[in-house]
Amino acid sequence: MDKQTFLKWADRNAKRIGVKKEQVIKAFEKDMAVPPDPDAPLQVPDTMHVNMRYSYGGQSRFFREILENKRIMGARCSRCGKVFCPPRSHCPDCYEQTAWIELKGTGKLLSYTTVYFATSSSVKQVPYIVAYIKLDGADTAILSNVEMKDIKKAKVGMDVKVMFRKQRDGRITDIYFKEA
Ligand SMILES: [Zn+2]
Repeated sequence: MDKQTFLKWADRNAKRIGVKKEQVIKAFEKDMAVPPDPDAPLQVPDTMHVNMRYSYGGQSRFFREILENKRIMGARCSRCGKVFCPPRSHCPDCYEQTAWIELKGTGKLLSYTTVYFATSSSVKQVPYIVAYIKLDGADTAILSNVEMKDIKKAKVGMDVKVMFRKQRDGRITDIYFKEA
C-alpha cells in the first residue's frame, strides 16, 4: 500500500473504531508500508464492545446482602452442617441444598500473596495483598484483598475483618479486609 493510500486508510479506520488517526498509523505503518508478502496474515483495526448482564444465580443473595445491607452470608449444609463462604447452593459432599446464615465478618488470614502487577482496575492499589480468609463460622476460605498501611506486617494467622466500600455495585470488590 503506498503512503498516501495508507494514510487515508488509517484515517478512515480510526474514525470507524473511534481512536486517533495517529494511533492507527503507529500500530500499522510497519505492516502496511513495506512491499507485502501476499500470504502474510492481514490485520486490520477493529473494536469490540460487549454490554451484558451477569447472573449470580444461586449465589445472588450473598452479593445482594453486601450491596444493600453490608452483611456477609454463608451457606450451611442441612445434612453435614458445613458452612461455605463463598456460598454454594448445594453441599459438594452431601448434594443437599444449603441454607443461608449470617456470618460476623471476622476471620483469620490463611494464606496470602503480594501483587505487584495488576490489571487496569487495580493498578493504583499495587502493591497489595490477595489472601484466602477463613471467616469465623465458615469451613471454607474466601479470596479477597487485604488493605493495610504496611503490607510487610501481613502474616498467616492474622485476625482480619471485612470492610464494605462506600460505593457498592454488587461485585466481589465491594468488600475487602483489614487487620482486626
Ligand atoms: Zn453436607
